[in-house]
Amino acid sequence: MRVAVLSDVHSNLRALDAVLAEVDAGHFDGIWFLGDLVGYGPKPNECASILRERGALCLAGNHDLVVLGKIPIHTFGGEAGTAARWTQTVLDDSARPFLDGLEPRAEAPGAELFHGSPRDPVWDYVLSDESARASFALTSAPLVLVGHSHVALEIAGDSAEVRGGKATPGTTLDLTTARRLLNPGSVGQPRDGDPRASWLEVDFETARATFRRTVYPVEQTQAEMRELGLPEALAARLAHGI
Ligand code: ZN
Repeated sequence: MRVAVLSDVHSNLRALDAVLAEVDAGHFDGIWFLGDLVGYGPKPNECASILRERGALCLAGNHDLVVLGKIPIHTFGGEAGTAARWTQTVLDDSARPFLDGLEPRAEAPGAELFHGSPRDPVWDYVLSDESARASFALTSAPLVLVGHSHVALEIAGDSAEVRGGKATPGTTLDLTTARRLLNPGSVGQPRDGDPRASWLEVDFETARATFRRTVYPVEQTQAEMRELGLPEALAARLAHGI
């Protein structure tokens, strides 16, 4: 089975479409989505309907839960709050129940999936050795997948010792040599200085994982955001991958 692991789409339909074109061309068997379908971007309903119709295994992220009102909106300041409030006003009657049915964690054959981390699947960021060790300690699957930080990450190890760090695009890992904690990066708002959509290919037959990047028309998403009056800083950052 070959799976496309996506995270943090953030209503960026142009980025999602570009990634899914590669997924279709690559004949993947499934899509696993690690949360934050909405927030920041201009096309929440379209992104929700695409992942719903494709039968993707989907998690909820903190932005999804805020938009649904399951987490108080005052949790978000500044532009994130502005975009979440706008998303609340446009979310339609099919996107809302779809998002409402999602949880921030899931299990799949050979893998455990979290939006944030095993310690706190909604809010915790896996950014340190300490949080990576805790993530291994709290799980048992060979492969642990997390999103939320918008930075592609590859960590190998266990609850006592970890190694690795930011993942370079194109890197392929042999999954048989160690337990792995992987973050695919963000489809819709990458934050590692590379504006291309970031995602991960996992092939369970060959036991390999490859970090992928996909070019998409950033300026189209920016134009959609400006037309809707979403915060300019959220549009501008997409060109820089920050
Ligand atoms: Zn996010």
